[in-house]
Amino acid sequence: MTSEVLYRKWRPRKLSEVVGQDSVTQTLRRSVATGRMAHAYLLCGPRGTGKTSTARILAKAINCLSAVDGEPDNECDPCIAINEGRALDLIEIDAASNRGIDDIRNLSDKINFAPNEFKFKVYIVDEVHMLTEQAFNALLKTLEEPPGHAIFVLATTEAHKVPLTIISRCQRYDFRRVPLDVTGAKLAELCAAENIQASQDALDLIARSSTGSLRDAENLLEQAAVSYGSPLDADQVREMLGMGGDEQALELAKCIVSRSVAEGLSVINRVAGEGADLQQLQRGVTEFLRSVMLSKTGAATTLGYPDETSAVLNELATGADLPHLLRSIRAFSAADTRRDTSSPLPLELALVESSLEPVAAPPAQVADAAARQAQPRQAPTRQARPYVHEQTPVQRQGAPQRQAARPAGAEPQPLPAEPAARLQAQWPQILRALRNTGTRFKLDALLRSSRDYALDGDRIVVKFSHNSHYDRIKEEMSNSSVLRELKEIINKAMDGDYEVVPEMESESNGQSMRQANQSHLVRAAQAMGARVVEQKEDDEQ
Ligand SMILES: [Zn+2]
Repeated sequence: MTSEVLYRKWRPRKLSEVVGQDSVTQTLRRSVATGRMAHAYLLCGPRGTGKTSTARILAKAINCLSAVDGEPDNECDPCIAINEGRALDLIEIDAASNRGIDDIRNLSDKINFAPNEFKFKVYIVDEVHMLTEQAFNALLKTLEEPPGHAIFVLATTEAHKVPLTIISRCQRYDFRRVPLDVTGAKLAELCAAENIQASQDALDLIARSSTGSLRDAENLLEQAAVSYGSPLDADQVREMLGMGGDEQALELAKCIVSRSVAEGLSVINRVAGEGADLQQLQRGVTEFLRSVMLSKTGAATTLGYPDETSAVLNELATGADLPHLLRSIRAFSAADTRRDTSSPLPLELALVESSLEPVAAPPAQVADAAARQAQPRQAPTRQARPYVHEQTPVQRQGAPQRQAARPAGAEPQPLPAEPAARLQAQWPQILRALRNTGTRFKLDALLRSSRDYALDGDRIVVKFSHNSHYDRIKEEMSNSSVLRELKEIINKAMDGDYEVVPEMESESNGQSMRQANQSHLVRAAQAMGARVVEQKEDDEQ
């Protein structure tokens, strides 16, 4: 497989090659073939569905020296110049960048010059909804009296943000999300051409997680093929998407809520036996249990999960026993799987621990714990009264962060106002919201591959222990629209202005981080008089 980005390499060169947008491309072909061109086109639709590709093909079709049935031949000079990205009369403006706005302002001056080499000068304005009011006015002026040699193709993911005065001057085309089966078939075609062996499950999973964006699907396929090589299976794709064993995690959550300990143990052991990442299982199950709790307490709806998953979680909430749920969340969030990522023991302990009945905790304490748990990792201002069953060495030594503040009332708490606590509380949502952010690599997967994160003033410093992950996130963040999306999601979650700063972890702070995260079992054992005789490094995970 070459290093050339798949979606660029496989970009359609004819209207008939644009995937999943047949009604749009047929109409465009007819209008080119019959010479009934509009002066302005508005291409609307979700990202990655072929709008920009279609705009470029249209530019070729109307300038092609031997177009057939409204299709470019991809052989004449104008076609080749456009394919090679060196056509002077194809002007592409990215309205999302500042330069784009200046470009529009200059447009009205330059638009009257005749084309250099083509019949038509074609202006493609991408993300047109991002223009400022001033730039829209300039654009409107040009659209009101366009010279005969100019054709505008405006593209947007958010048509409702484009002024009606502009829309009314355009021929509008709506691009649809590419259906699952069409995406799957296209991926299979790419695999055959690129000599990638991939299971049907793996391709289905990629198609599903790209939610109708063919570009995302192609990038994910490439990312998977680069990371794991060929053959490619569904587990690898799941791991790459950071949804490692979402299904197993959900299955485990079901076992926990229904107190089926034996069944739960067999899920944990099956996942361990498959060599899957137990940390991901832990994260997944803790997130699911937390969602069940939020749904149970009516504090929030389950955010960001597919409908079927949300339905399962809501159903679980109906049957869940709140105190038991809280014990489970605490046990699973405190389980330390970092030291030895292949040992199922911490999760087994968490499962068994959480299934134990506490010794007659008074109701007030239970409600108290509910409120406490709704706000994890809050600054320890007051001592919480522990459960009776917590007074075993393993429990007490195991989870100092459980000594959380004890709020006055039992009502669900709002998000912490203190930024570090808020970041901690919001991190899972931030990751979920970033599932579709990124061009070649998705930010949620990259951030999940980080070693740790911490707040430093208004900077969220994310530490990476692998150069490849660090380089990838830097590369993604150098893309202005990715960066903008990231900022929006972070700032919304944090309710303030924050900057994400990726950093490579140095040896020394990696060591201290590992020590800080030392297994609670080791600490418990030390408390009981054990001595550490050998430390195993866990650089690779
Ligand atoms: Zn041509």
